[in-house]
Amino acid sequence: MRVLKFGGTSVGSAANLDRVHAIVSGQGKPYPVVVTSAHAGVTDELLRQAKNASRGKYSLRNLRRRHKDLLADLEVEFDVVAPLLAELGDLLRGLSLVRELTPRSLDLVASFGERMAVRGIAAYLSQRGLPAEAVDAYDLGLRTDSTFQAATPNVASLRDVGRALKKMRRFVPVVTGFIAQDAEGNVTTLGRSGSDFTATLLGAAIQADEVQIWTDVDGVMTADPRIVPGAQSIPALSIAEASELAYYGARVIHPATMLPAIEAKIPVRVLNTGSPKHLGTVILGTVPPSRRSVKSIAYKRGTTLITVESKRMLMQPGFMARIFEIFARYDLSVDLVATSEVTVSVTVDSDAKLDAVKAELGQFSEVTVEAEMAQVSIVGEGIRDRVGVAAEVFETLKKSRTPVRLISHGGTKINISFLVEEKLVKRAVRALHRTFFG
Ligand code: ADP
Ligand code: ASP
Ligand code: MG
Repeated sequence: MRVLKFGGTSVGSAANLDRVHAIVSGQGKPYPVVVTSAHAGVTDELLRQAKNASRGKYSLRNLRRRHKDLLADLEVEFDVVAPLLAELGDLLRGLSLVRELTPRSLDLVASFGERMAVRGIAAYLSQRGLPAEAVDAYDLGLRTDSTFQAATPNVASLRDVGRALKKMRRFVPVVTGFIAQDAEGNVTTLGRSGSDFTATLLGAAIQADEVQIWTDVDGVMTADPRIVPGAQSIPALSIAEASELAYYGARVIHPATMLPAIEAKIPVRVLNTGSPKHLGTVILGTVPPSRRSVKSIAYKRGTTLITVESKRMLMQPGFMARIFEIFARYDLSVDLVATSEVTVSVTVDSDAKLDAVKAELGQFSEVTVEAEMAQVSIVGEGIRDRVGVAAEVFETLKKSRTPVRLISHGGTKINISFLVEEKLVKRAVRALHRTFFG
């Protein structure tokens, strides 16, 4: 059995859903499990309206229009989503009355995107002669902890999920990506882009022989094609390479996607709904050595660099622990770390609670905070064994006059990461792409 996941663009228009129908019916039997995202743009709009509601004023107009138009194009009755839209209206009204927005209510609001999408898509596939039923992932038994907006799946719950899916042999289950429930029955989400993660979780639950991530580009590419027009599709990646690329910002797969696939040893294939014959990228435990030492370049904007300097304390035992304890307490996850004789530099993703962190660190050290940085990562198994890659990286950056901060050559030795100013990141990625991929 296979799991096929379709992203927001793939299910964003009638033309693309026609392709989805062809891809799913082309699988024959046993029927695959389909996982889907909300239609493109819907999650953003839901989160926008949740925020508007908490300020007292919201509108369902865009969401109603989006679904009405798409369902009309698909010749599916609007009734399939109407009750959910009504429920969403009640929820937003409630938020506007209490003027409050918790991570828990944001997750509940966000969940309507996938819940509406599966209903419309299942109805559409059925109408075209492919028996399909909409399924909310939590009704299969998918459970997470209660970390709203970035919940961690409860691995033990996958047994229930597997059992439930295996009973659904007579039709294509069209399952909500992104969402689950905690032990108390609150709706949770796996974080933005979390439908990829749902796909491999379900894949592990049914011991699928393959998980396919259908998106809007020809697989994982040598760089984000939106900023590097000459980016090329990569035929094969190891799980380690794919995990690092995802973690370091290649948006094409959610960072946690590979975890269930590693344990269950399931190949993951990234494919293009708009060009289904293209072989895309296959991600496997190990891949034959490539003639290219660098496989891809990822980048991540919105990085903040924090430098802690303490002449008195750096060499004393417990100093590092003291610093990291402060980050942990504010729930800030530290990405890159570098030390010198008297400084410790770290990068974090968000700048939300930095004032408080800075104040605490300031009690025993001098702290500088540099925002609007971007992290660039060069990834490839070949980097581990070949000398000279780092030299090429920094030579290229020197030539393109891009100052570099905080360099790291991670524990796995398959990436070289560094920081540049956010406004220089496009230029840096393009220059590096020319160096490594011509
Ligand atoms: P989906 O809605 O199908 O999940 P996403 O928008 O989440 O699609 O991911 C696909 C997008 O990821 C591509 O359109 C591309 O702009 C971006 N992307 C960033 N880095 C890469 C990369 N290395 N390879 C392919 N796509 C990338
Ligand atoms: N719809 C969700 C999002 O936009 C999840 C996903 O697309 O994977 O983040
Ligand atoms: Mg995605």
